[in-house]
Amino acid sequence: MSRRVAVVGAGLAGVTTAYELAALGCQVQVFERGGSVAEQASFAGSALLSPHPALVPAVTPTPWAWRWRRWRAGRRAGRRGGEAASTLAALSQLGLARTAELRHQLGLDDESTEGLLIALTDTRRLAVAEARMDGWKALGLQVELLDAEAARRREPGVNADAPLAGAVALAHGGAGNARLFTQQLRLKAQRQGAGFRFHTTVRAITVDGTGLTLRHEHTPPLEAPTRVQGAQREAGDTLPQSFGPMDERFDAVVLCNGLDASAVLGQRLSLAAQHEISVTAPLRLLEAHPDLGPKAAWVDPTLGLTITRTGQRVRVTGGLAVSSPRAKVAADFEALHRGLQHWFPGSVLHSQVQHGQSRRAVAADGLPVLGASGRAGVWLNLSPGGNGWGLACGAASVLAQQVAGGTPTVEISALGPQRLA
Ligand SMILES: Cc1cc2nc3c(=O)[nH]c(=O)nc-3n(C[C@H](O)[C@H](O)[C@H](O)COP(=O)(O)OP(=O)(O)OC[C@H]3O[C@@H](n4cnc5c(N)ncnc54)[C@H](O)[C@@H]3O)c2cc1C
Repeated sequence: MSRRVAVVGAGLAGVTTAYELAALGCQVQVFERGGSVAEQASFAGSALLSPHPALVPAVTPTPWAWRWRRWRAGRRAGRRGGEAASTLAALSQLGLARTAELRHQLGLDDESTEGLLIALTDTRRLAVAEARMDGWKALGLQVELLDAEAARRREPGVNADAPLAGAVALAHGGAGNARLFTQQLRLKAQRQGAGFRFHTTVRAITVDGTGLTLRHEHTPPLEAPTRVQGAQREAGDTLPQSFGPMDERFDAVVLCNGLDASAVLGQRLSLAAQHEISVTAPLRLLEAHPDLGPKAAWVDPTLGLTITRTGQRVRVTGGLAVSSPRAKVAADFEALHRGLQHWFPGSVLHSQVQHGQSRRAVAADGLPVLGASGRAGVWLNLSPGGNGWGLACGAASVLAQQVAGGTPTVEISALGPQRLA
């Protein structure tokens, strides 16, 4: 008989995991507290698909306590740190390859664009990048160092007056709309037999000798009446069979619920919230200026900005800050507008700008928390930090292979939660 597997959370991690499990023949039931897929961290990310997380902008500002935890995590990792870095590189590359494969096989269209350039704004940064090239190549990355002229040829919309010494070009990188991808993959997962139960919060898991019991509860949407009556519900949404806590038996459960995983697992996971803000606007389409705006993904590590194009929209993200999960962080949208104007002046319609602020889980060492939780039958797919979109399809496929009892294509033991204890 096929394994009954519960997936908690219907963001990018949960939906990709549900799809992969269902494709391997598991009976999958997804539980989501919200009313649809990709409503939280997966809602308005930077859209960057990077073949390696270390190449995305650095985190600032960071509280001292967190810096200390990060330093301690680095020391503890020791030799395992190198193993984790190469596991992560392999997983990121698998992630991009699997994303491309799913788009092709399933006919998914997430408005993706191809090309990822990291701007090197002065000769010092160019020299640092040059010195790192061999290390990046040793991780299996296909990287190329471009001079300013070659970089501007690839991204002709870049401001001619903005100082630029060169750029790092990453093969297979680009941008894609993670939310659109998640929504489309959810329908494919349903076709494979996966069930989705929305407005349902998983409260606890009890493990015994023959499997596990999941306690879940209907959690009405805050904006109640219209959605519950069904007016705006997406296909496949379900209403709870009864109000109040319900128990259901499964053979395994995969927690894909980011910062809230500790509460369900009943065990502290050392995760913090990484906040980021975004500005999204339609591209200005002018016949006389066909090169306005970015063609794909442009990362500026100096300003801590990512500028991406998906379809006819441009998104700028930045203002990264780490805090405790409940803390509020000030949002400086002006800095993002200035950054966009600096690199791609006049490229968007300012009358239709959307501002966003979201947070994602991050572990002290910046790595995902992926693998067996330490409780029998309970698995984790959490905290991929700033590269969660790039990693999602790879992490899901490797974890699903393990949950279904197979041998994973990438050995992921270095990414397990035990390293955070
Ligand atoms: C602003 C921003 C920019 C980003 N940019 C990039 C980028 O450019 N490139 C990249 O690769 N990655 C990026 N990321 C990271 C990536 O978007 C995230 O890593 C990814 O979306 C996380 O997906 P998730 O499924 O783990 O989390 P979420 O999307 O947050 O999903 C978790 C779900 O679990 C549900 N849930 C929680 N608790 C329970 C419970 N007890 N019961 C039921 N349901 C529950 C929540 O309602 C939620 O829907 C960015 C993230 C942010 C926030």
